Amino acid sequence: MMNVAVIGSGIGGLASALRLAKLGLKVSVFEANDFVGGKVNEQWLGAYRFDMGPSVFTEPALIEELLSLVNKDKSDFSYRRLPESCRYFFEDGQFVVVPSGMDEVAETFSTQFGESRVRTKRFLKRLSRNYQALYPVFIEASLHRRHHWLNRGIWKALARIPYYGMATSMSAVNRRYFRNPKSAQLLNRMATYNGSSPYRTPGLLNIISHLEFNEGPAMPVGGMVRISQTLHQLCLELGVQFYLGERVEEIQHQDQRVIGIRTTKQDFPCEIVVSNMDVHFTYERLLKGLHYPTKILNQEKSSSAIVFYWGIKGTFKELGVHNIFFANNYEAEFDALFKTKTRYEDPTIYVHITSKVEKSDAPEGSENWFVMVNAPINVGQDWDEFVAQTRKSCLAKLSKALNQDIESLVDVEALNDPRKIEAVYFGKQGSIYGNSSNSAFSAFYRHPNFSKTLAGLYFAGVTVHPGGGIPLALNSAKIVAKCVQEDFQLST
Ligand SMILES: Cc1cc2nc3c(=O)[nH]c(=O)nc-3n(C[C@H](O)[C@H](O)[C@H](O)COP(=O)(O)OP(=O)(O)OC[C@H]3O[C@@H](n4cnc5c(N)ncnc54)[C@H](O)[C@@H]3O)c2cc1C
Repeated sequence: MMNVAVIGSGIGGLASALRLAKLGLKVSVFEANDFVGGKVNEQWLGAYRFDMGPSVFTEPALIEELLSLVNKDKSDFSYRRLPESCRYFFEDGQFVVVPSGMDEVAETFSTQFGESRVRTKRFLKRLSRNYQALYPVFIEASLHRRHHWLNRGIWKALARIPYYGMATSMSAVNRRYFRNPKSAQLLNRMATYNGSSPYRTPGLLNIISHLEFNEGPAMPVGGMVRISQTLHQLCLELGVQFYLGERVEEIQHQDQRVIGIRTTKQDFPCEIVVSNMDVHFTYERLLKGLHYPTKILNQEKSSSAIVFYWGIKGTFKELGVHNIFFANNYEAEFDALFKTKTRYEDPTIYVHITSKVEKSDAPEGSENWFVMVNAPINVGQDWDEFVAQTRKSCLAKLSKALNQDIESLVDVEALNDPRKIEAVYFGKQGSIYGNSSNSAFSAFYRHPNFSKTLAGLYFAGVTVHPGGGIPLALNSAKIVAKCVQEDFQLST
């Protein structure tokens, strides 16, 4: 039986391990940290539980697909559909609860922002059609193997080119279509879901809004960490071996073929390697001397984040599971993020509170706040100062909007920032999604899911095709499994 080494146990690594084990391969996962799940992990601070990374979960069907692949019941992973996608607080005092669902969103845009119901619905329908058209040829297919995307779906995808907004920025598409700048701002926010700027990413990326608004977010029962726990459990049941606290230092190769890996503890011979490590560091640290795909990897990086995990002594009726406190000048915020890579004094703040539905995540009468602002990548800024000033801005903005002194309610506290994202998860310069999609074709120009120079080497996770976020990481694993199956002529 052929040996597979998976480097990293993030969502892309776990899903790859599961799919390859299902193909009958002997799979071992090597994880540098002493926990499984990569960014999808949890931490308890006293009686408060926090999901440390992702908070927005869409496309639960992709987890169900993995369950059915290994003949498990859907009920082995339960989640709730949230009736609201997000609550928005604008600087002028306007407060808008955006529900999930096309009709409901169109109604809200009409009553709150004065948009036409019919036009809003038409726009959301267009995004839904764009998404369906692109899915089989772009999202679940390798762009680098013609027979993956050259299927019947390609004609449907090509026919919709005039509707994608490829030649214009997301912001320009949204500003042109909607009369109220606030409607556009809501849609523009979706660019941050893959760490990009709405003022530079193409209108095509509006398809993210289909998942946020038409489908609406879901929430795993037990928190986001249930996603990695579920995949880990399924892997164990298929006999996947886990080596935790064992960092991989080298991918060994001979005659343009992978022959094994060297970890901090052993040499491990194998015919197949799947790297779930940030693709930049895979080349820089594990493949020294191998040709570095400069053109792909030297593109602008996606943004990073600063997260304050606050146990709050108090409850706030006006807050839901997902809340946004917008910056007044959104464009200036993105200039600071990507152009000057500096702190913006009035950042948009995202507050995520799982205890709104998972009561055991915080003590009675309290809430677990995950308070996040987008941050530039690490280029040597004075992060202690940056974080301290950002904390001040967040406390001031939230206290003003909620009419309470928030600092006095902070019971317990932890922090995540670009330095930690780089040190703990090995994200290049703390970027969350590898390259950004800040140019017209960058979404189509990510590193392939396989190596063109080393046979037996594959890539999964958010830094490679198809891109950022849990659904795309799950799709990257699907593509890896398909490539391995083809390359090694394995039957299902
Ligand atoms: C603050 C924050 C908020 C986010 N919010 C969302 C969200 O709301 N929704 C969403 O879909 N996504 C979100 N994301 C992105 C999300 O984390 C990813 O979509 C998802 O976790 C997929 O990650 P991945 O498969 O690329 O692996 P990662 O989670 O990056 O894991 C990679 C793993 O590889 C391991 N590793 C690296 N190098 C080595 C080595 N040499 N040897 C062994 N192991 C190694 C690392 O330790 C890590 O465990 C967020 C991320 C952050 C940081």
